[in-house]
Amino acid sequence: MVMIYCRECGKKYSDTAVACPKCGYREKSDIKVENNIIVYLVLTWFLGFVGIHKFYVGKNGQGIAMLIMGTIGWFLIIPGIVSCVWALVDFIIGICNIKKPNKIFNSK
Ligand SMILES: [Zn+2]
Repeated sequence: MVMIYCRECGKKYSDTAVACPKCGYREKSDIKVENNIIVYLVLTWFLGFVGIHKFYVGKNGQGIAMLIMGTIGWFLIIPGIVSCVWALVDFIIGICNIKKPNKIFNSK
């Protein structure tokens, strides 16, 4: 992780962010975003049941919901299944949009 300066407003932010958190300026080229969707798909496949991929794209609310369900899912079968199915659906949506990653990274 490297800190970069926003070209629009000059704010310093992490290069793992998709866009500048202050003004929303997107520094990333599409090639970089395509790499990010691979990371997203790997996270969804392996850690999706606890919502890690939601945090990765900045959907923290959904991430927390999945984290709670996924954690409870270790003990209770129903929330565990809901969380796994949710992650699987996100994975399939990710695969379908692999050539249009902005759909996933911009839809908050
Ligand atoms: Zn900015």
